[in-house]
Amino acid sequence: MKILIVEDEVKTGEYLRQGLSEAGFVVDLVNNGLDGYHHAMTEHYDLVILDVMLPDLDGWHILKSLREADKTMPVLFLTARDSIEDKVKGLELGADDYLVKPFAFSELLARVRTIIRRGTKTPRDNVLSIADLELDLTRHRVIRAQQRINLTAKEFLLLELLISHKGEVLPRSLIASQVWDMNFDSDTNVIDVAIRRLRSKIDDDFENKLIHTVRGMGYMLDTADKI
Ligand code: CA
Repeated sequence: MKILIVEDEVKTGEYLRQGLSEAGFVVDLVNNGLDGYHHAMTEHYDLVILDVMLPDLDGWHILKSLREADKTMPVLFLTARDSIEDKVKGLELGADDYLVKPFAFSELLARVRTIIRRGTKTPRDNVLSIADLELDLTRHRVIRAQQRINLTAKEFLLLELLISHKGEVLPRSLIASQVWDMNFDSDTNVIDVAIRRLRSKIDDDFENKLIHTVRGMGYMLDTADKI
């Protein structure tokens, strides 16, 4: 799950980025309205956290422009203002929720989880599966052949990405940007190490291997033992 934070106050932005990263989200942080608008228009996010008062372009203008461009991702407004009119304006423009500063991080996290859950249409959509492997996004649970498998937050994100694109080869560069939020650097073997760990948890004890290495290209989750 990937979140964009548009916040010009450095301390607040870093605090949110750190907290949400620790909670298992991939986070992009930008500190002005124009960058926020461009990121939201060009990349995929499961949620945008938008400050109202921003340099260049305020949160209302960003939201209005996104909705006019048919961008339907959920938006949570953060603002120091707390008048009724401002809340109504935000919601009328298509915000999904509203949080007034200062707020407790636990409150923000609860709202974020609720919005993301609501954003997916039916409960069944929250369970992704391939063969006898199931990934439950709501309960954050992985089950293979009725056995519960414990994954770290990164392993879960990695498996979620693979299973969302089952049968497709995912290049390392794409995995790096989606799961680690970094540009791919061929000197690092962080992806290969993570894949090895994930394999040991979901494939090693089973005959039907699901994670396949596509030499020179990347990785793929599939039922067929083609490789
Ligand atoms: Ca601000």
